[in-house]
Amino acid sequence: MFELFPMWIGIACFAIAFVLASLVEYWVHRLMHKPLQLGERHRDHHRRNEAQGVVWEFLDYVKGTIILLVPMFFVSLSAGIGWSLGAVIYAAFSSYAHQLQHENPTKCFWMKMPVHYVHHKYNMWHHNFGLGVDWWDHVFGTYKVVEWLTDDEQTHTERSYLELKWW
Ligand SMILES: [Zn+2]
Ligand SMILES: [Zn+2]
Repeated sequence: MFELFPMWIGIACFAIAFVLASLVEYWVHRLMHKPLQLGERHRDHHRRNEAQGVVWEFLDYVKGTIILLVPMFFVSLSAGIGWSLGAVIYAAFSSYAHQLQHENPTKCFWMKMPVHYVHHKYNMWHHNFGLGVDWWDHVFGTYKVVEWLTDDEQTHTERSYLELKWW
């Protein structure tokens, strides 16, 4: 049992990093909608209503957070590996989720309403800040249900989960 201990640390760190990454993502996006310097690039993103490609977005996330991955390796190797994997896998998932919601929102099966899609569709400045998941909008009271499955989406030509702009 004792030798399994480091593995459980790794798994726990993985889960914490994954959830924390989604929380950070929620708040960074939410703050981008406040009158802050941070917001210019994001306003442009709203204007153009298209994402940059899964790979570029992933690299942006990793570049922005790599410094936060290192300290856990000083705690222990399994903590470092679990923590880094949790953050990196969330970044990959979220980059994909972002692109998918911009290009093919009806395929976003893990959310009842693709929060980021409606965030753009209705140019929301105060609601639905989630990207990969909608948990934090529920927790912080910014979740707003809207009618989104209109003709636009229903007449969209059927495309697979992988037919996206990757870079
Ligand atoms: Zn936004
Ligand atoms: Zn977007």
